[in-house]
Amino acid sequence: MRIVILGGGFGGLNAALLLGKKTQSSLCEIVLVSDTSRFVFRPSLIWVPFNNRQVEEISFPINKIAEKVGIRFIQKKVASILPKERKVLCQDGTQLVYDYLIIAAGAVPDWEKIEGLKGNTASVYDTYAALQTKIQVEKIQSGQPIIIGVAQQNPAQGPAYEFLFELHTFLHKRNIRCPITFFTYEKELLNHQGKRGSLILENHMKEKQISYYCDVSIAQVQPGCLQLSNGISFPYSFSLILPPYRGADFIFSSPDLAHENGLLPTNKTLQSTQWENIYVVGDANAMKKYKSGRAAEIQGKIAAGNILNRIKGNSQQEEYHADMLYLMELGTDGGLFVIRYPGSKTGKPYFEWAVDGYLPHLMKLAFERYYSWKLS
Ligand SMILES: Cc1cc2nc3c(=O)[nH]c(=O)nc-3n(C[C@H](O)[C@H](O)[C@H](O)COP(=O)(O)OP(=O)(O)OC[C@H]3O[C@@H](n4cnc5c(N)ncnc54)[C@H](O)[C@@H]3O)c2cc1C
Repeated sequence: MRIVILGGGFGGLNAALLLGKKTQSSLCEIVLVSDTSRFVFRPSLIWVPFNNRQVEEISFPINKIAEKVGIRFIQKKVASILPKERKVLCQDGTQLVYDYLIIAAGAVPDWEKIEGLKGNTASVYDTYAALQTKIQVEKIQSGQPIIIGVAQQNPAQGPAYEFLFELHTFLHKRNIRCPITFFTYEKELLNHQGKRGSLILENHMKEKQISYYCDVSIAQVQPGCLQLSNGISFPYSFSLILPPYRGADFIFSSPDLAHENGLLPTNKTLQSTQWENIYVVGDANAMKKYKSGRAAEIQGKIAAGNILNRIKGNSQQEEYHADMLYLMELGTDGGLFVIRYPGSKTGKPYFEWAVDGYLPHLMKLAFERYYSWKLS
């Protein structure tokens, strides 16, 4: 029996760790395939441009942890999947046959989806982009207009707010004063995370004199100029805009996988709606839910547990229900902690709370420390 997991991020790694701990290697081989040798703790990428973290501090070698739990890790780029033959094809020609497959290959920015966006905005989506952004923020001078925003269809808005407040702090510490504009397609600031969180953010924006626009989308982007759907145009010297997502390239090269812009549809148990022995977790999943490392971690564990149940002949399959437990940095003002639990039947929130201050910042640091401990 072989279970193959694609992707060494939050979803894939957590699925692999659970399977490694709960299976006997003589009975079941667990193979984790990822194109990078290190797990990157992406929530800390927002600190890299401001020199508050180095890339080496927030990334961990996957092979060390794989060895500990007795799973096989292979660093290879997946080229396509042949679900009828239960095979994964890698770019170097390697073929891996599987009994069960967990796809946890994440998503990538779909820069092309909005004309003009590609190349005209900074990014913090990966270590390379965060390091490039570091070079750009170092060059910002007083008076230069800055735009930070969330483009239409982006499924994870939190990092834009975090970057905004971290940048504001960074510039203020250097006595650099710039007009900063924020925009988002959300009806209110961070509105999917509850009313209280929106109000807290509104106050912070006012206090810091950051002008903002909600419920707007990008009409046009040109080098140095952004036009919003409300007709207002903004010149900018620096911008960071979160784009829509699309799935990994190999999904587009797998003709037998039905997908929505590279993201794969599943039912609530995270099983592919098309192939019963494939599960899809994390950002790679086409669920219209907030995308986060926490969601990917929970989904990875659920998918792994559901596969184990099936191997044992147990028909029980756990379902994924989205909740919201989010920690966000607010620059000098500490952080914001939002918690939102939906009622399992109605889907309407039955518990919602948000608080800002130094404690959420400490909690974010503790979250980072926990992963560092878990993966070392
Ligand atoms: C700046 C920033 C801040 C964030 N802050 C938070 C936060 O505070 N809290 C939170 O919960 N979430 C946060 N997120 C979101 C979170 O990081 C993502 O939702 C999460 O990483 C998704 O996990 P995943 O496992 O689905 O995908 P990923 O983490 O993207 O992992 C996918 C893996 O698949 C591999 N892969 C891709 N293609 C291939 C291929 N062809 N072959 C082999 N391997 C492949 C990749 O190398 C990667 O290892 C943040 C994201 C960013 C960018």
